[in-house]
Amino acid sequence: KRRIGVMTSGGDSPGMNGAVRAVVRMSIHMGCESYAIYEGYEGLVQGGDLIKEMHWEDVRGYLSRGGTLIGTARCMAFMERWGRLKAAKNMVDRGIDALVICGGDGSLTGADKFRAEWPSLLKELVETGELTQAEVDPFQHLNIVGLVGSIDNDMSGTDATIGCYSSLERICSAVDDVFDTAASHQRGFVIEVMGRHCGWLALMASIATGSDFVFIPEKPPRVGWEDQMCDIIATHRKRGKRRSIVIIAEGAHDRELNKITANQVKDLLTQKLNLDTRVTVLGHTQRGGHACFYDRWLSTLQGVEAVKAVLDATPETPSPVITIRENKIERSNLMETVALTKSVSAAIAAKDFDKAMQLRDVEFKE
Ligand code: ADP
Repeated sequence: KRRIGVMTSGGDSPGMNGAVRAVVRMSIHMGCESYAIYEGYEGLVQGGDLIKEMHWEDVRGYLSRGGTLIGTARCMAFMERWGRLKAAKNMVDRGIDALVICGGDGSLTGADKFRAEWPSLLKELVETGELTQAEVDPFQHLNIVGLVGSIDNDMSGTDATIGCYSSLERICSAVDDVFDTAASHQRGFVIEVMGRHCGWLALMASIATGSDFVFIPEKPPRVGWEDQMCDIIATHRKRGKRRSIVIIAEGAHDRELNKITANQVKDLLTQKLNLDTRVTVLGHTQRGGHACFYDRWLSTLQGVEAVKAVLDATPETPSPVITIRENKIERSNLMETVALTKSVSAAIAAKDFDKAMQLRDVEFKE
């Protein structure tokens, strides 16, 4: 019986539990054994109780729960070869030679590195007497399959990451709440949302709530934005709007890559427009809460596809990541997808914002 491990790693996102549930149940359905690796790569490195066989009923109720019930962590040990050696030993000890990892680009990069190193890790474990040749012989290849779990929707090559729509829903509802109080007092609000280097959450929330102005990293405002923003808001006020809302991505900056902060925008609105303005940083409420319909659906279909990808893999197959494009669940080359994602950050760092926008939209086919 094949043994398939499943773990969540990096920042948590709603829908990760749905992914774990689908991988566990599909593995069992396909006649495999399923193992949950608790606390991300920490569980792989430490082994013991952190690697646990999962049965059908162990994931009951997982679909609707927020966060990740099998835990996640940032694990420094896995960044080092000695940590990956321990992880390889734990996997061989438990007979696991396939891993489905739900996480962001960091976690998926680490996973592919582990796969590439796998033969040399086993060789070293035999040479140092930790394992015998007979013990490692059945485990010559490690299969890695990635699922993208992130609220930021920051992975190229996929239309949505698991968790982004749940987070967007929470942001919209929080902005609606702020609207009520803003309109009552005729106030301005600057609302900071998450997204790291990606403006998707800010941009979508801005469209969905009809905000007055938005700041995203991929398309910084033009020079003189301070006056432009104030003019727009003043015009809206003249038309009778009783509240002003500006949404700012946490990674916002100007065209020279100087950070633009929520407080800076607030001070402008206060000083230039004499507007009673407050800052609201939505913070971690954006990560929490139950998974919305879309994330339950996406994580379930992608979890099923991940197990199929494990069973289809040959030693020559490059690690896949499960994506969704135009409503179809697909497999893409994991490292190419990660490289494309990194090229967006590189374009921003090079101040090539047109390219950054274009890359975010790119239709990426293998
Ligand atoms: P995310 O997956 O959300 O991008 P991180 O970048 O923090 O989050 O990665 C999560 C974990 O994945 C790290 O703490 C580390 O254990 C592992 N990891 C990330 N990058 C690498 C890498 N290049 N090599 C090995 N492990 C890595």
